[in-house]
Amino acid sequence: MNVPFVDLVTQYQGLKDQIVPAMENIMSKAQFIMGEDVRLFEQEFADYCNTEFAIGVDSGTSALELALRAFAIGAGDEVITVANTFIATTLAISSAGAKPVLIDIHPETNNIDVTKIEAAITDRTRAIMPVHLYGQPVDMDAITEIAKKHDLLVIEDACQAHGAQYKGRRAGSLSDAAAFSFYPGKNLGAYGDGGALVTNNAKVAEKLTLLRDYGQKQKYHHLIKGYNRRLDTLQAAVLRAKLPYLDAWNEARRKNAARYSTLLQNNETITPIDADFAESVYHLYVIRVQKRDALLAHLHQKGVGAGIHYPIPIHLQQAYADLGYQKGDFPITEKYADEIISLPMFPELNEEQINYTVEVLKEFAE
Ligand SMILES: *Cc1c(COP(=O)(O)O)cnc(C)c1O
Repeated sequence: MNVPFVDLVTQYQGLKDQIVPAMENIMSKAQFIMGEDVRLFEQEFADYCNTEFAIGVDSGTSALELALRAFAIGAGDEVITVANTFIATTLAISSAGAKPVLIDIHPETNNIDVTKIEAAITDRTRAIMPVHLYGQPVDMDAITEIAKKHDLLVIEDACQAHGAQYKGRRAGSLSDAAAFSFYPGKNLGAYGDGGALVTNNAKVAEKLTLLRDYGQKQKYHHLIKGYNRRLDTLQAAVLRAKLPYLDAWNEARRKNAARYSTLLQNNETITPIDADFAESVYHLYVIRVQKRDALLAHLHQKGVGAGIHYPIPIHLQQAYADLGYQKGDFPITEKYADEIISLPMFPELNEEQINYTVEVLKEFAE
């Protein structure tokens, strides 16, 4: 048996009759750039997130970077984020010209340890960028309180958390602005790169629409120095076709996660915890084990697609040697980097595939 890590083909087969005509419609009108579907998707995605505005861009990384730029965060500024994340979080901070300041993770949630944030605040700190990693929301009330006390902005990296809820409120609606990625494998994925920034701040939304499109509102009238970071119309059409299914897909992911956790209960495996304030959307289902590398090899050998998210923490990446961090600086992040395995997770994953994956895991433990 083969269990893929993600299966985007099965989902496409079920949606083909909606997606192909939607793309055909755009091609037949040649509305490739800023066509009507971009505007419509922005409206629909803002409604979904419970925010006033959504601005489509070309990736989640761009959404994060342009958010910082819209708030005029750049050279000389510091942005606090977490050591266990995908590199795009910190690359966005660096690209804006600011310096990422890292925090260790909380041992239970795998997310930023909110009790360690205040000690990292300096005169140069401008913002906190929490990451809802694996689809589980960060304890945002704690972050908001710290931000208020120190007059900081909060920008959520919600790139893995489409539809996730914190105390009944959607990820993305919990801060000054939030970034989403529509990379194909994300919970809401396009058929190529894409992203969006959501916010309730009209000024920031306006600035984003300029920044992503050469700084223009009207063609050839450039108000500021902008970029070319637009969301393609074809991708917007794919996202519009998929958005109505997102809640059902997330529900299926949660069900799959619950099945894994039940079956793995009596094993030597540490299964993910749903924090009591959070409803995770399980972009990834991440367990922790001893002898991780041997288990990973065993899973691969038995046809189970598993991965590591992420094997090298940000502060130990060569690209970030200039930050001056050292091994030992974030002990929990480092320990977990050697123990985590992401098991196959996608909405269409079936019982048989989950059972087989767990069987292979248990067989290794014996
Ligand atoms: C995917 C992802 C990003 C970047 O999104 P892209 O669309 O690939 O640029 C940023 N942060 C996190 C946590 C992500 O998972």
